[in-house]
Amino acid sequence: MLKAERYRHFVEYFSKNQPSAETELHYSSPYELLVAVILSAQCTDKRINQVTPALFKRFPNAASLAASDAGEIFTYIRSVSYPNNKAKHLAGMGKMLMEVFGGEIPSDINELQRLPGVGRKTANVIASVVFDAPAIAVDTHVFRVSNRIGLTTRATTPLAVEKQLVQYLPQNTLAIAHHWLILHGRYICVARSPKCEICPLTWFCKYYEQQNTETALLRAEAAKMRKTKDAKKKKALNTISKELAKRSVDKDI
Ligand code: SF4
Repeated sequence: MLKAERYRHFVEYFSKNQPSAETELHYSSPYELLVAVILSAQCTDKRINQVTPALFKRFPNAASLAASDAGEIFTYIRSVSYPNNKAKHLAGMGKMLMEVFGGEIPSDINELQRLPGVGRKTANVIASVVFDAPAIAVDTHVFRVSNRIGLTTRATTPLAVEKQLVQYLPQNTLAIAHHWLILHGRYICVARSPKCEICPLTWFCKYYEQQNTETALLRAEAAKMRKTKDAKKKKALNTISKELAKRSVDKDI
């Protein structure tokens, strides 16, 4: 199947079945989204949603963050991952927003990345969600799922994945495609053992196609070897049988 066809099926499927996917982080302003996304690095959205209500109450805007310090911010976010670093980032981010950007969240991806704690992924989330820019943030789920489905080829870095997705996805789907890929990766196309047996994308997924082909070849090879008396071939058959059994248990296919 051509790459362009996979993209078409991907967009058609999700547009029809998940027309309103959005972030699971809770926020009510661009400032709150920026804080929540910075906090969410290497942490779960569920955990972030537990700490942000009190955090946003105490620090409702960049000015209040700027007037505080990392020590106080830490007390509100101690249960998230890397709280020391994140507290320092938030304090620095508040100060820079006030001193350099007049308290406003910048819309430019490069300007956003000047803020402490903001890498390209976070900058793309803000640019795309807040400013409707043609950008897509690539996190671990987007990276993995795009690659498995076959939306990307030979893309070994998040930036390479981002470039291919921006090139092939219709511009008006970039923001929502980010959430489609994240949610699919979080609940079905999980990292260690993708749940292909319940996945609705098998018919255009490259990974599934490859796994099916490999398994069919292994089965054919095993069938041939079962007739042999050659000890070496019997050993090889044993290995193949184990691999087939593993695939069956993993329910990969
Ligand atoms: S078929 Fe499997 S590998 Fe492909 S997207 Fe679905 S879960 Fe992921």
